[in-house]
Amino acid sequence: MERADLHMHTTASDGTYTPEDLVRFAKAKGLAAIAITDHDVTDGVEEGMRIGREIGLEVLAGVEINTDHGETEIHVLGYGMDLADPGLVKTMDWLREGRVERARAMVEKLNALGYPLSWERVLEIAGPGAIGRPHIAEALIEAGHVASRRQAFEKFLANDGPAYAPRARFNAVDAIRLIRGAGGVPVAAHPAKIKDDSLLPGLVDQGLGGLEAYHSDHTPEQAEHYVRMADTLGVLWTGGSDFHGSMESRPLGGVTVPYTQVEAIKARARA
Ligand code: AMP
Ligand code: ZN
Ligand code: FE
Ligand code: FE
Repeated sequence: MERADLHMHTTASDGTYTPEDLVRFAKAKGLAAIAITDHDVTDGVEEGMRIGREIGLEVLAGVEINTDHGETEIHVLGYGMDLADPGLVKTMDWLREGRVERARAMVEKLNALGYPLSWERVLEIAGPGAIGRPHIAEALIEAGHVASRRQAFEKFLANDGPAYAPRARFNAVDAIRLIRGAGGVPVAAHPAKIKDDSLLPGLVDQGLGGLEAYHSDHTPEQAEHYVRMADTLGVLWTGGSDFHGSMESRPLGGVTVPYTQVEAIKARARA
């Protein structure tokens, strides 16, 4: 049966593959469809779609927006949006700007803590991508302050770490409305990480259209649980690897869903 991996990151955010290389890799893996779901940006999607058309791999427009719902962090995936939607473009720009301010605040904290980093170097590492903590972690390794990305998070960058700075706050319901407004289908990413299933029905009432039941960090039991919950709530279930570039953790194509789920998404997307 044809399979699709609907969650992955490129150099447009904190993945290590360019959209082109990622699409070629997915094709080589035998996938029938993918969605490019970078953090807070859709910059890699058009390039991915173009290469996909060239080599015969369906690429769905996607995004993963980091949002807050009260004290809970919820990642909202969007599928099938019109990338030119003015509201979407405006919000993506705003989120991207916010990420730059926030990364700069983290670099300043590191400098104050006695771990100097060059801001220019951090920007270079992020390249054209929406800047994030993994880029700062990379700079910390390069500067010799830590030995690994894991250590960079443990010592400095984790949410309760001494160099952490919060993202611009963006509400989950606003993200759901934004994606709907752009003709897309909003889906709760890796819902097991939300740790509170009781939030999900309310979000469905607000327009949430699916649950990411299958994810590299979910157990088979959790996947089944969220498929059942999606059925009960009358929304889609989706899935994907959350590939960032390492084939050791969350490998590309390591988590897939049948192509029927892509058809279901497309049937519900207006774009
Ligand atoms: P940001 O979007 O800047 O908040 O960075 C979040 C990204 O950092 C996630 O998508 C992961 O790729 C990575 N990340 C978050 N926590 C950790 C951790 N404890 N260890 C390694 N990478 C992490
Ligand atoms: Zn990431
Ligand atoms: Fe996520
Ligand atoms: Fe992700």
